[in-house]
Amino acid sequence: MQVVEMVRFCPTCNRSSDEVGFIGEFCEVCTADKISKAMPDTVSIKRCKNCMDIKTEIDYEPLNKDSIERAIKHEMHAKEFRLKMLEYDESKGTADILFKTDIDGNKLSFIKKLHIKIEMGYCPKCYRMKAGYYEAVVQLRGRSADVENFVTKLLKFIDSRKGFVSKIDDMPDGCDIYASDKAAVSAFFDSKDNLKPKKSYELYGMRRGKKLYRHKFFIDLRDPRGLWSRKKH
Ligand SMILES: [Zn+2]
Ligand SMILES: [Zn+2]
Repeated sequence: MQVVEMVRFCPTCNRSSDEVGFIGEFCEVCTADKISKAMPDTVSIKRCKNCMDIKTEIDYEPLNKDSIERAIKHEMHAKEFRLKMLEYDESKGTADILFKTDIDGNKLSFIKKLHIKIEMGYCPKCYRMKAGYYEAVVQLRGRSADVENFVTKLLKFIDSRKGFVSKIDDMPDGCDIYASDKAAVSAFFDSKDNLKPKKSYELYGMRRGKKLYRHKFFIDLRDPRGLWSRKKH
């Protein structure tokens, strides 16, 4: 049995189904056009004026082709589309984006020029850093070379955990380090089995009915039980 398909014509542009594919009663060109026009022309992306990261889905990340594609997708609530940045003109603030999607099993793609508005502000991390936020204090004492070596390692560790140090106060025989993340500081000491600091806690506030404590760590690298300066890491 032979099925003869009838040639259809798009009610908007009059293209025939011999020329282009159809999605519902309209041709794919008009369908793509309609979807594109219904999308916003301007997308705002938040950027931190301190670390220059941009806001993507949940976090702030360094700006690159991949992160900006995800930031745009997130801001446009365009879950059903795959996006590809074809061109980004930072001076004009425009981006040519290729959108791809499937509608009832038909592939559909179109290019749209978006205006990218960059909203400068602070990411949560830099905001807290600016405000001098800290939840852990490491009171470090010892010979200056050992202290310096320790500070470098601790800062690197905190940074790898996406925390920050908001302040370092110099002391006559060491320094006090104010860090954003007490869990990161604890993890640092846990990773060094030869370093056992004295710990104390200080209540500093409440959040949703829970008491918030700052952790204080005291360590003297000259302490004979502290083998820091003798063991190589
Ligand atoms: Zn059409
Ligand atoms: Zn930042």
